[in-house]
Amino acid sequence: MCAAMQSAAAGARTLLVERGSMLGGTTNTAGVNFPGIFHAWGRQVIRGYGWKLVEHCVAESGGELPAFFDPPVPSRHWMHQVRVDRALYTMLCDEHVSRTGAEILFHTMPAKLEARETGWRVTVCGKTGLFELDATCLVDCTGDANLVTMAAGDLLDAGGEKQPGTYVCRASGYDPDTLDLEQIDAAFQEALARGEVLPHDAGWDVNTPVASRWLRNLGENANHIPGIDARDSEGRTRMEIEGRKAILRMYRFLRRQPGLENLRFEFLAPECGVRETARIAGDVTITAEDYQSGRVWPDALSHSFYPIDLHTAGGSGLNKIGLAPGTVPTVPRGALLPKRLKRIAVGGRCVSSDRAANSALRVQASAMAMGQASGAMAALAAQTGVDMRDLPIEDIRALLRTHDAIVP
Ligand SMILES: Cc1cc2nc3c(=O)[nH]c(=O)nc-3n(C[C@H](O)[C@H](O)[C@H](O)COP(=O)(O)OP(=O)(O)OC[C@H]3O[C@@H](n4cnc5c(N)ncnc54)[C@H](O)[C@@H]3O)c2cc1C
Repeated sequence: MCAAMQSAAAGARTLLVERGSMLGGTTNTAGVNFPGIFHAWGRQVIRGYGWKLVEHCVAESGGELPAFFDPPVPSRHWMHQVRVDRALYTMLCDEHVSRTGAEILFHTMPAKLEARETGWRVTVCGKTGLFELDATCLVDCTGDANLVTMAAGDLLDAGGEKQPGTYVCRASGYDPDTLDLEQIDAAFQEALARGEVLPHDAGWDVNTPVASRWLRNLGENANHIPGIDARDSEGRTRMEIEGRKAILRMYRFLRRQPGLENLRFEFLAPECGVRETARIAGDVTITAEDYQSGRVWPDALSHSFYPIDLHTAGGSGLNKIGLAPGTVPTVPRGALLPKRLKRIAVGGRCVSSDRAANSALRVQASAMAMGQASGAMAALAAQTGVDMRDLPIEDIRALLRTHDAIVP
């Protein structure tokens, strides 16, 4: 979305191809409606098209932004995430993208790429069959590096361990404060022993699985769906089915507990949320050391701010390592460009990075900033005929600044 907005606003003819029926990606389709983090250590480090959308959504829905400029509390980074109204955000995504002049094509997926002398021939699959599009430049914001894979680009660590996904729902019909949570946790242990529920159905920590955390969170961001690589249709299908099975097991167990007879769902995300699939092998790869030291790359185009946040299938379910005070990592152009390939960049979760660095870089504000940076490169490359890796870095930065992005 941010890539398309930046590219179109820079005057390039831009088409956003989306496999689903709405924009916004994980924020909307997986119900992760708390984008972050735009501020670090008392100052804003990410702005531009993503921030504009988030800020507009909060203002129009009568919400309030968090107190970004309060003294930062490193272990409570999530307090600086911005909760957006899901329905309004979905509609504003259409509005913001359309008004930049970018065209949108829903219910369409790329099926095949062919490199041409001056660009790409993209065969896409729409509702009525295959058709072809010609593009000078492509930006892969699939999160899963689907386009780079089709272009025969290299991936890092393909087939390696992946972080668990989470299927978001929101339960209602009970008041957690009036429940006998101890008794429900004891019943949960018995249900576990009988195999009616699984430890990660109720939470991330499988050392001490309990139902009470799920109940207090109203089921939101409460489970782990482990052991699946959702990069392709088969993996994605397994993740959706296993995710919904986990919620159904909890529902059937909880409805039998005292005080939960009226449990119901107010919301079930359209899709299971995916934390990790593919990362491209870029011209450079951001390592955890680069990230944690706040390395300022010579070709840095955006910031990122989040602790290393590696979810695991076992143990406590999460390895988190905060950033030292004052540290603000950066993202270089080289990490957005797949090695050997021309006229294609990525924006978002599939940025070239090691697993630990990626567990931080993947978050929404960082993804928005990377998308905008890649959109700027694609537009300039299309307009000048210069390959994205040869564009003068100051030209890309100048374009980004004109469109309100913060450049390191
Ligand atoms: C449970 C959970 C909790 C999280 N918590 C937070 C949090 O608290 N704060 C935070 O900021 N981030 C959080 N994240 C991380 C964050 O939401 C994602 O990593 C981020 O949204 C990734 O953005 P993206 O644009 O790279 O990819 P996505 O959001 O996945 O967007 C990709 C888009 O491309 C489309 N697409 C994919 N493949 C194709 C294809 N082949 N053809 C056409 N279209 C395609 C998708 O439909 C989607 O619209 C969380 C993630 C999960 C799963």
